[in-house]
Amino acid sequence: MDRRLLYEGKSKSIYEGDNDSTYVMEFRNSATAGNGAKKAELEGKGELNASISAVIYDYLAKNGIETHLIKMIDATHALVKKTEIVPVEVIIRNTAAGSFSQKYGVSEGTPLKNTVVEFSLKSDELGDPMINETQITAIGLAGKEEIDEMVRQALTINGLLRALFDRSGIILVDFKLEFGRYEGRIILADEITPDSCRLWDKQTGKKLDKDRFRRDLGDVMGAYTEVFTRLTDEK
Ligand code: UDP
Repeated sequence: MDRRLLYEGKSKSIYEGDNDSTYVMEFRNSATAGNGAKKAELEGKGELNASISAVIYDYLAKNGIETHLIKMIDATHALVKKTEIVPVEVIIRNTAAGSFSQKYGVSEGTPLKNTVVEFSLKSDELGDPMINETQITAIGLAGKEEIDEMVRQALTINGLLRALFDRSGIILVDFKLEFGRYEGRIILADEITPDSCRLWDKQTGKKLDKDRFRRDLGDVMGAYTEVFTRLTDEK
């Protein structure tokens, strides 16, 4: 791709777009876990994640959620709206798992009595520490209204995604979202893929997400392929 590279993340790269209001986002095969401690190249991951994220973003757009996705350019490149990313990750949990289970001593798989909303500071240097609303506003990462808007959208997205995955026989355990500022609005940015969600098979509990990589469970790409196939069979 003959475009100027602007930013290289752990699994995606951002290139300049067609004009001042767009970027091109590339999904790469790189996989990392433990804040970069574990690294691998997984053949086909870029393409699968690009396809999965596109299917999900199209579904969200059809259901009234504005996203940064304009269109897919090819199998691994998306043309997106140029947003100013809010440096706060929004994590939504329906079932206990991962860091939540560890931190609070709640077994993985325990259903949660209400949806949990968490924020973490987007900072590789600091290891994405958890941050609360008053801390976010105190240091000027986002305003109170922006936080309220991110939470409102994240909860709507959770409802839509739970229904979508449920129809594919998949439980949406938890996921991470990122939002960007665009023409004065807060819109969904980044990706929604098995790298950023925990997805469990409804029948067997089999993990169909990045935990297969993090925990060395094997057949990572088989699981991602399964997610894509089930999502697209559904449509
Ligand atoms: N997550 C993510 N990027 C991050 C941190 C978390 O995409 O930098 C996702 C992760 O895949 C999971 C959810 O957010 O679906 C909650 O992750 P958790 O806090 O349990 O952290 P982990 O166990 O992944 O360290």
